[in-house]
Parts: sequence; structure tokens; C-alpha cells
Amino acid sequence: MKRYVLWFISVLPLVFVVSCRPAAQPMPRDNRIPQSSPPFTAQGITHDTQERDLPQLADGPESTEREAHPVSNYILQRRYPRILYLNAGTKSNQVALTWDDGPDRRFTARILDVLKKHKVKGTFFLMGARAKALPDITRRIEREGHAIGNHTFWHPNLTKGNLDNMRWQVNETEKVLQGTVGHRSHLFRAPYGNLNEELVKELGRMNYRVIGWSVDSLDWRQLPADEVERNVLGNVHPGSIVLFHSGGNWNQDLSGGVQALDQIITKLKKDGMQFVTIPEMFNIPR
Ligand SMILES: [Zn+2]
Repeated sequence: MKRYVLWFISVLPLVFVVSCRPAAQPMPRDNRIPQSSPPFTAQGITHDTQERDLPQLADGPESTEREAHPVSNYILQRRYPRILYLNAGTKSNQVALTWDDGPDRRFTARILDVLKKHKVKGTFFLMGARAKALPDITRRIEREGHAIGNHTFWHPNLTKGNLDNMRWQVNETEKVLQGTVGHRSHLFRAPYGNLNEELVKELGRMNYRVIGWSVDSLDWRQLPADEVERNVLGNVHPGSIVLFHSGGNWNQDLSGGVQALDQIITKLKKDGMQFVTIPEMFNIPR
């Protein structure tokens, strides 16, 4: 009898642990939040618990996953010129301003305000999970005439996963876009810009244009406005696709990029540059 009691006591905790495991998700939702980081309070933007509740980038902020050799995308682009676009060539004076990782509650609306003031249209590559959580700001992007692209549902590093996972991320985001703004997107941008041949070919088969960039504002490094401005104006060329972020991890401060935008647009307009969306730049039908 004593042996049975002992056996029961040793097995009971195991039964409890197994029964407390969460139900399986259709795809892994890695929504971890760095609890050790201090709350974000820079630039007078108060951090609140709501920001932590917003779906986070599955594989973390840009700095954790960004590949140090983006030249590989140029080689892919030469191989798949009808699928992958990094710029428009230098013949026209067009520039496409693009934003990733939104929508969010802190930066997206401020960016939209600046674009409205200058009557400039841009392209927003949205995370499905965030568009689902914030349908109002998603609809505002659409209503104000900007183009919307697919930036996966949870923002994983796709080169670490398989094609099934990529298709799920893309299709789940399209369901949200369809339900929120009433149409799907044919534009795709890879989280962290990380691509390989298999992904590009499959995205082409899925009828996407995969959009990279030729100028990185480096706003994701949380730089002050004057540095973001220098990064853009010092590298911009006719036919540029410029990368910014309209959202980040909950503790990332992207104010520098938002504050730089007004000057960047003003100066490029003086140079005679014309601002277009990605579909306008490449004649992509909606
Ligand atoms: Zn991203």
C-alpha cells in the first residue's frame, strides 16, 4: 500500500504538467516579449501595457535577424527580375517610400499625418496579426490612398522555416486584409529582407511581386532624426525604394524616422523627385 501511495505522489505532478500544456496552434505563435527590457518611455511617448499586448515580431527586432550581406538579394533579383524588385532603375525621378511592421498605435498615425500634409502616397507592408488587432488604422491607410502589402502574419525569419509555414503566414495575412480593407494584396516583403531562391520562386507562383529596397533609413536602429535624414538623402537615387518602419517591438523607439520624414519629403520635392506607391512604380494592377 505504501508503495502505491509513493507512486501516486511521484506521478501526480507529471499528470498536472501534461494537462496544463496549451492546445496546439495551427502554426507556432512566437510572440515573446523581452520582460527584462526596461519600459519604453523615450521622446515623451508613454509606454503602456497595451503596447505589450500588440502582437510582437516573432523573431524579434530587425537588429537580431537582419543579414549582414544584402548583396544576395541583388543576385536573386537578377535571376528573378519579374518577381523580385529592389529599385526601379534610374531613368525616372520616382521614389517609393515604404514602411514595414505596422500598423501600430505609436508611429503609424503620425506617419500618415506627415504624408497627408505633403499629399504624398506611400506603401505599407503590414503584419497580419497587427492589422487584425488594429483594424481602424489599417482602414485609414487604405482610405488615405496608400498601397498595402503583405509582411507575413507573425514576422518570422522565413529562411529558417519551410514553404508550408511561409504559405500559412501569407494566406492568413490576406484573410485579414480582405476582411479589413476589402481586397487582398499582390505585394510581399520578407521580414528582415531575408529571402532565398525557394521562397522567391514560390512567392512568384503565388502571384506576388516581392519588394525589397535600395535605401535603408536605418530607423530600426532607433537613430535620431538627423541621422535618419542623412541616411536617406545621402543614398537616395532616382528609382529608389526607401525602407522605413511604422512599428517595431514594443520597446523600440522609431521616433527618429517619423521626425525625419517631413524634411526628407521637403528636400526631395525640391530636387524634383516624384513620390509614388510601389504599384505605381512597377505598374502592378491592384
Ligand atoms: Zn519587418
